[in-house]
Amino acid sequence: MTPFPAPPDPESAPPPEEEIRSLLEGNRRWVEAVERDDPGTFPELARRHRPPFALVGCCDARMPMDLMTSASPGHLFLHRNVANQIRPDDPAIRASLDFGLGVLGARHLIVCGHTGCGGVTAALRGKGPPSVLDWVTPIRELVLETGTEDPDELSRLNVVHQLERALELEVVQEGIRHPTRVLRLHGWVFCLDTGRIEDIPLPIDRWRAEGRI
Ligand SMILES: [Zn+2]
Repeated sequence: MTPFPAPPDPESAPPPEEEIRSLLEGNRRWVEAVERDDPGTFPELARRHRPPFALVGCCDARMPMDLMTSASPGHLFLHRNVANQIRPDDPAIRASLDFGLGVLGARHLIVCGHTGCGGVTAALRGKGPPSVLDWVTPIRELVLETGTEDPDELSRLNVVHQLERALELEVVQEGIRHPTRVLRLHGWVFCLDTGRIEDIPLPIDRWRAEGRI
């Protein structure tokens, strides 16, 4: 999310019918290209769902997870919410991770935030719709704990914090303690102004000392 941008100017936006039709036409072009370049892709996708990666990202429209990683369909099991949070009290994320990690067997859990995150900025400034401020309460607490005032630094801290919260989930603990198929954790921040992903170092030693892993 950008920090509560103005809606598109109705004077310059295309007619609504044309706007939505462009997406469906885009789908048709995509299907034709895939069938031409790699015949059999769709029947194969329909037959099998074994994604290696479970990725929790922000809703931000500028973060195209598949495109920015050049991942093929079937590789990324996605869950998105405002400011890429893993809240153990959220049944949606619990269901996603129980399914993606526990049932489908993803081998990597990635939390991916981004620079210029509207949810993180809302938490920092305490401004935004009440539902958003309520949702980002854990990030507001992180601001108080760390004293950080830089939104992009807060995005980095938030990614690590969300992975710590993931460690409270049984499916994640089972994954990292599995004898043969070890679940790996990764924290990323996507930089909007460069398109590059920053791989955040994780405090593995501290987590071990705290008994989290
Ligand atoms: Zn965001």
